[in-house]
Amino acid sequence: MELLPIFLTIKGRKCVVVGGGEIAQRKTSLLLRAGGKVQLVAPEFSAALEQLAAENSIELVRETFSPHHLADAVLVIAATDDLEVNRAVSEEAHRLDLPVNVVDQPELCSFIMPAIVDRSPIVIAISSGGSSPILTRHLKELNEVAVPSRINNLALLLRNYRKLVKSRVSGFSDRIRFWESVLDSDVPELVYSGQDAKAEQHLNAQIESWQASHQARGRGEVYLVGAGPGDPDLLTLRALRLMHKADIVLYDRLVSPEIMKKVRPDAERVHVGKEPKHHPVPQESINALLVKYAREGKRVLRLKGGDPFIFGRGGEELAELAEAGIPFQVVPGITAASGCASYCGIPLTHRDFAQSVRFLTGHMKNDQLDLDWKNIIAEQQTLVFYMGLVGLPQICEQLIKHGLSAATPVAVVQQGTTANQKMVIGTVATIAEKVAAAELQAPTLTIIGEVVSLHEKLNWYQQAIH
Ligand code: SAH
Repeated sequence: MELLPIFLTIKGRKCVVVGGGEIAQRKTSLLLRAGGKVQLVAPEFSAALEQLAAENSIELVRETFSPHHLADAVLVIAATDDLEVNRAVSEEAHRLDLPVNVVDQPELCSFIMPAIVDRSPIVIAISSGGSSPILTRHLKELNEVAVPSRINNLALLLRNYRKLVKSRVSGFSDRIRFWESVLDSDVPELVYSGQDAKAEQHLNAQIESWQASHQARGRGEVYLVGAGPGDPDLLTLRALRLMHKADIVLYDRLVSPEIMKKVRPDAERVHVGKEPKHHPVPQESINALLVKYAREGKRVLRLKGGDPFIFGRGGEELAELAEAGIPFQVVPGITAASGCASYCGIPLTHRDFAQSVRFLTGHMKNDQLDLDWKNIIAEQQTLVFYMGLVGLPQICEQLIKHGLSAATPVAVVQQGTTANQKMVIGTVATIAEKVAAAELQAPTLTIIGEVVSLHEKLNWYQQAIH
C-alpha cells in the first residue's frame, strides 16, 4: 500500500482552502459536510463562493496567500491555478507538518482526496493512488449501485443498539456472532425497504432469544474449505462467506497469499503447511488442533489448496471431528487438475481422444512409486499426476515399460492458474529432461494423454515452453 487510508475528524477545526474559484468551492463544500471550520484565502472570490460563505460560517480572507494564514489550521487545501502559489502553500504546510492537498499536483500533496460514496455514517473512500481516476470513478459507480441506499439507516439503528447489546451479550466474539446473525436476518432488508419500526421489533426479539439459544449457538464448528488452485477468483461464494466468518484459520502451504488476504482480517492465522519431505505440523496434530479450537467455541476454518477431498486428507480430519461430535461442513474447491487443465487449454476428456481421466498421486515413499502400472495404462484415457515432480523420471520410465507409447504428449504445469503458471510440453520420452531444464517450482501437475496436444489450439492464458 503506498498510502494509508484514514478518516479524519475536522469538526469545528480550522481548515484553510487557498483559492477562490470552482474547485475551491467544491473542496469547501466537502469540508463543510464533515463539520470543518473553513477559512478561504484568495484576492477575490467567485459569486458562488460569496454565496456559500454567506449561507455558512465561512471566513473569507481577501488577501494573496501568506504563510501566516496557516496558523492554527489542521488541514490545508491549495486549489488555485497558480503553480507558484500552490507550491508556496505546500511548502509552508510541510514546514508546519500540516496535511496538505494540492489539487492536480500529487507531488506537492501529503494526502490525496479519495472518491467517496457517502451514505453517512457509512462512507466508502476509493483511491487508485493517482494511477487511474477513471478506474476510481468506475469503482465508485459500482459501489453506488451495490451499496443499498438506506444503509445509513441500518448503521444508525445498529449504533443505537450497541450499548444494549453490549450489556446483554457478553464476550467480544459472542457479540461478533450476534451482530453477524443480525446481518443474516430480516433486519437489513426491513430497513432497506423503509420498515424501520418493524426492523427494530425484530432486533429486540433477537436480543431476547439470543440468551436462550446461546448455549447451542456457542458451540464451535469446523469449515473444511477448498481454496482452489491459486487464482482467488476461483474461490466459491460459500468459501468466501465462511472465510469472512471464521475466528481462526488453519491453512496449507498451497493456499496463496492472495487468497489469505480474503480471510477476515482479525481472524487468527495458523500455518500448518507441509513442505515436500518436511512436515512442520504432523497430520495428527492438525486433527487435534481442529478439535481443540472447536471445543473452545471457535469457528475454525480449515483452508486447503484445491479440493479438500482430492489428495487433501480432508477425510481423515473429518473422521476425527465426527468422533469428537463437533459439527462441520465441507466446501468443495476447484482441484488442481481442473484449474490447470482449464488455464492451459487441455480438456481432460474429449470425445476424439479420451473418454476417461484418472487422478493419481506421484508421491514417493522411500524413493519408490507404489502404483499398479499395468492397470493404469488404458486406451483413450488421460492421466493426471499430483505430487509428481520429483518422481517424474520414474513415472515416465514405468509408463513406457508397461506399454504406453513413448510419443504420448505430456504437459507439466507449474503453479497453475496463478501469475507464475508455466507449462512445459513434451512426450513421455522427453518431458523429464525438459522439466529439469526449465527448473520448475512446486507445486506442479503432470497431464499425460493425447488431449494435451489440444493446448496448441485452446491455450488462452500463457505461452507453453516446448
Ligand atoms: N487437494 C489438492 C491437492 C493436494 S496434493 C487439489 O485438489 O488440488 C498437492 C499437489 O496438488 C501438488 O503436489 C500438485 O501436484 C497439485 N497442485 C495443487 N495446486 C496446484 C497448482 N496451482 N498448480 C499445479 N499443481 C498444483
